[in-house]
Amino acid sequence: MELFWHRRDLRAADNVGLATAAGAGDDDRGPAAPVFVFDPDVLGHASDVRVRRLIDGLAALRDDYRERGSDLLVARGDPKEVLPRLAAAVGADRVVWNRDYSGLARERDAGVRQALNEAGIDREAHHDAVLHTPDSIRTNAGDPYSVYTYYWRKWTDRETDPPAPTPEATHLADAATLRAAVGSDDGGDADARADGGVESERVAVGDLPSPADLGFGEPDASIGPAGTAAARDRLDAFLAEPVFDYEAERDYPAREATSRLSAFLKYGEIGIREAYEATERALDAATERAESGSESTDDADDEGPVAAVEEFQQQLAWREFYTQVLYHNPAVVTENYKTYEEGIAWRDDPDEIAAWKRGETGYPIVDAGMRQLREEAFMHNRVRMIVASFLTKDLLVDWRHGYDHFRERLADHDTANDNGGWQWAASTGTDAQPYFRIFNPMTQGERYDPDAEYIKAHVPELRGVDADLIHEWHELSPTQRANAAPEYPAPVVDHSARREEALAMYKRARGED
Ligand code: FAD
Repeated sequence: MELFWHRRDLRAADNVGLATAAGAGDDDRGPAAPVFVFDPDVLGHASDVRVRRLIDGLAALRDDYRERGSDLLVARGDPKEVLPRLAAAVGADRVVWNRDYSGLARERDAGVRQALNEAGIDREAHHDAVLHTPDSIRTNAGDPYSVYTYYWRKWTDRETDPPAPTPEATHLADAATLRAAVGSDDGGDADARADGGVESERVAVGDLPSPADLGFGEPDASIGPAGTAAARDRLDAFLAEPVFDYEAERDYPAREATSRLSAFLKYGEIGIREAYEATERALDAATERAESGSESTDDADDEGPVAAVEEFQQQLAWREFYTQVLYHNPAVVTENYKTYEEGIAWRDDPDEIAAWKRGETGYPIVDAGMRQLREEAFMHNRVRMIVASFLTKDLLVDWRHGYDHFRERLADHDTANDNGGWQWAASTGTDAQPYFRIFNPMTQGERYDPDAEYIKAHVPELRGVDADLIHEWHELSPTQRANAAPEYPAPVVDHSARREEALAMYKRARGED
């Protein structure tokens, strides 16, 4: 028996560690007993949204196991204590997991390795979450990349022969054996009482806690479906058609032209090899379309379906880029990646931060984004960039406030991607957006939501207002605003004035003044 410890890989398919533990390619291994551990330390950084999303993902995973005659062990406690005892209880001589590249996870895993060593239990960690491990793509001088464009070139060169999806995990511990081992004979909520000694931590077979059991509330946001089947449906639907217009459409939030796979990828409900292989098939289909001349050529923005699929693959590579940035620079979670000689003197006005969080800044595209976040625990990428630029460069607020808010509210919150996105917007990150490039929230809204469809979908006060007026909101007189939408606020700041202040703030930080 081998214990397979699920963490950010809530799937039974295309899972490197699980397939290995379950004996794919090696008849001497397995059966694998899958476990998830609710770790109080990890829960200490969680939020209502993410706990709900996690439990939904675990429920889908458990059901997948049940369909295969197995089940998911669900434990609570410090993994350093839970895992050695649980391994003893189920008679596992090895604990297997997939690597998590963040600094905190690596510290935790080092502790677990030591505890297992002391208990005389073998352990094994696999690369699974990315196509290319954080150490494998480096500059010719051997350093990690800090500029995405160069990283992407090397990444894509490797894709002539991408890693294939991992074979199905077939040799799993059967449900009855698991129930017998941890002392629960009904699959229900029982404290473990096996001779192996898992008395002090709760271990149940397939029985998941509610958010309230873990000290969390139900989120207000409607969170989408979870699990491998839903992830595959989403991927298939996206690759069947929308992907071919991805390049031309992806920046327009009202068009819903992106995959919305981020939460599935964050929780590892779909394997990256499986997803990437599907994009390769889409690329073949795109090439056929291009060759048969069936692609539309009358749209000036349309670079063609092949470029569109490649553009989508580039986003998957962004995820890997930020994973390796975090891996090589664990301090970026709280520190600027790029140092400014004099430090940035952020303003951090609490009222302005509160208006931004509520979606009441008087800048319609910003407010629509912040309200989408509250309603859907998601925000479109273009709008994430706009609201992040607005917080840091119009409100002059430290990116860490924005990051913390996103971390609490996003269902797809991923330390590497969220941090990378925020530091990019704040011009403190890798591949940094130069500090003098400041988004104008009005022209961004006009360009990417010309008919104000996205804005109206999320800001009901503006539903009856003409798009032209919405995009000129900052220029209207108080009377014009009161006539058009009395409930909607006037801009909290003057963008042009704040732009100058932001430039001065960054110049001082660079010691130029
Ligand atoms: P698609 O456009 O369909 O892209 C496919 C996948 O590629 C995404 O699911 C994601 O896994 C990856 N991807 C796309 N864009 C990026 C990117 N810029 N950086 C890294 N990976 C990317 N993404 C997260 O997954 N979690 C976060 O917490 C997160 N926070 C962000 C914060 C800010 C301030 C910004 C500017 C971006 C952030 N992103 C984050 C990146 C991006 O906005 C989301 O991945 C994307 O909007 C998710 O929608 P989608 O799945 O439809 O994306």
